[in-house]
Amino acid sequence: MAKWIAGVDIGGTTLSVGMVPVAGGRPRALRVDDTAGGRGGAAVVEQVCAMVRAAVDEVVCAEASGVEVAGVGVAAPGSLDRARGVVLESHNLGWFGLPLRDRVQAATGLPTVVENDANCAACGEWWQGAGRGFRSVLGITLGTGIGGGIVMDGRPFVGATGAAGEIGHMTVKYGGRRCTCGARGCLEAYASGPGIARTAVEGLAGGARSTLPELVAGDLGRITAATVHEAAVEGDAYATGVLAHTARMLAAGITSAVNLLGPDAVVVMGGVAEAGDLLFGPLAAELGRPRFRSAVDACTVVPGALRGTAGVVGAAGVFRLRTEET
Ligand SMILES: [Zn+2]
Repeated sequence: MAKWIAGVDIGGTTLSVGMVPVAGGRPRALRVDDTAGGRGGAAVVEQVCAMVRAAVDEVVCAEASGVEVAGVGVAAPGSLDRARGVVLESHNLGWFGLPLRDRVQAATGLPTVVENDANCAACGEWWQGAGRGFRSVLGITLGTGIGGGIVMDGRPFVGATGAAGEIGHMTVKYGGRRCTCGARGCLEAYASGPGIARTAVEGLAGGARSTLPELVAGDLGRITAATVHEAAVEGDAYATGVLAHTARMLAAGITSAVNLLGPDAVVVMGGVAEAGDLLFGPLAAELGRPRFRSAVDACTVVPGALRGTAGVVGAAGVFRLRTEET
């Protein structure tokens, strides 16, 4: 009988559930929905459990040889009490002290573990994605914010508070832009989606010439990282320069993290990573510049391979690792 784990990824806007074989492999019975975030924690827990039940039913129907469900791994945003599976604080979802693990466990009747979403994404890429085969991986998710997770010698490394790997809040420019965390000059303030948009708008306000204003009918407030990417693809030199500037900031953060941790691979994930060569080209060039090189030279920087399912796969992977431990 095949053993499966339900992987759940709770995002601020999107909720994904899939069934992952304990032995590894692509998620099956994958379903994606808008997170019922506005209706509070209880509504989201109900939504998660309904999606898990539907996914379990789907693999049970598809697998003639029988299915055993080992449990549920949940990737959750915000700060967590990992041992108790409680979301201490998630501003995106408005959750404060939500006992997520116990609620999911009670409603599904399945053993459940909860882990930070960025740690799950890193673990997913290490287990089944672009970081497969490497002993130590730093995963970076570039989106509305910047998340980071570390797998060190084949185990997730979460530090004393569970928040280790927060590369988004490493200082890349002393005294620079104000970040959402309140500090100045964090990587997230430059290389997240909103950070990229801000770089673009600041340059335009300073008189830079570009097709970007046309793409947003003159309303610069509508410029996003996706608009900058679109303009760069169409050959706009200014937009290409904005992505190159982003790559320089990213390289500064990655170089510092790699010198500290010495991972075999850095996996760059998330919507912003889909800029592809327009981002990874200048990033590789920056990482190739002379500096204290040994750790950086020994490390591969690659885009994520799981596109949207790293959290689901990683949540299942974390469940597998944690239950092996006990
Ligand atoms: Zn910050």
